[in-house]
This record gives sequence, structure tokens and C-alpha cells, in this order.
Amino acid sequence: MIRERPAGGVLVARRTPVRRRSSALPSNHSRNTRMITTHTIRGSAIDDESRCVHWHGPNDVLAILFPCCREWYPCHDCHEESAGHLAAVWPEGAGAEHAMLCGRCDRTTSIADYRATSTCSHCGGPFNEGCRLHAHLYFA
Ligand SMILES: [Zn+2]
Ligand SMILES: [Zn+2]
Ligand SMILES: [Zn+2]
Repeated sequence: MIRERPAGGVLVARRTPVRRRSSALPSNHSRNTRMITTHTIRGSAIDDESRCVHWHGPNDVLAILFPCCREWYPCHDCHEESAGHLAAVWPEGAGAEHAMLCGRCDRTTSIADYRATSTCSHCGGPFNEGCRLHAHLYFA
């Protein structure tokens, strides 16, 4: 947007850029949850909804808390590349652990809740169904 409005014939040159919400977000961005995550996501995240270089479909918004280091990573590959140690899996009985972070709304879900549904219990956003295919990487 070009803002040139001569006020009374005097051109006011405003050099301080007006900071406003970026309009460069993809059009499929959900508009009500745009927030920078308050959790530190490690690994190769490529956006602030926890998509990574390995998984970056529209629904690849989960980050996982790894029990070995209690750090958040977007996926197993991210952990493997960056953590410097072998990943541990959550043991059986850890269902109450809030180890799943929704990148859309930045809220956590317990493992049990996550495994019982395929949408975020907070914002209702869908998770990638395909994650179930490699649940063994994360859960015992
Ligand atoms: Zn780890
Ligand atoms: Zn990854
Ligand atoms: Zn959510």
C-alpha cells in the first residue's frame, strides 16, 4: 500500500515503517490462531506452526515432547538430526503426559487424548492422520 497523502500541500515523509500484522501469510492460514509459539521448538522447523523440512503438509502442525531430553521437536527426524542422542519413546502409562503441542493454537494435549482423536481438543484443527503410521517412533 502506498501512503502518500499531502496534508495541506506539505508532503509528510514518514520514514518509520508502520508495523502491522503481516499480510504475507498464506491464504490457507487459519486466521484466528495466528500466534508465535511460546514453546521452543528445536530441529528444522520451517514455520511457527511446527511444520518442518520433513513434514510440512497443511496438517503437520504437531510438535512432540521427547522424553529423553524433554525438548520439543516437530518430528522424529528433526530430533535425530539435531538432538545428538537417540530418541526415547514414551513408555506405556505415560498417557497423562502433555507431550503433544498443537502448532496452530500453541496448546498441549496429553498423549492419551491425542491418540484417541485426530483433531486438536483446543482449536479443533485436524492433525495429520498419517502420523499414526509411525506412532511407534514416539510411543511404546
Ligand atoms: Zn531427546
Ligand atoms: Zn522434522
Ligand atoms: Zn490446536
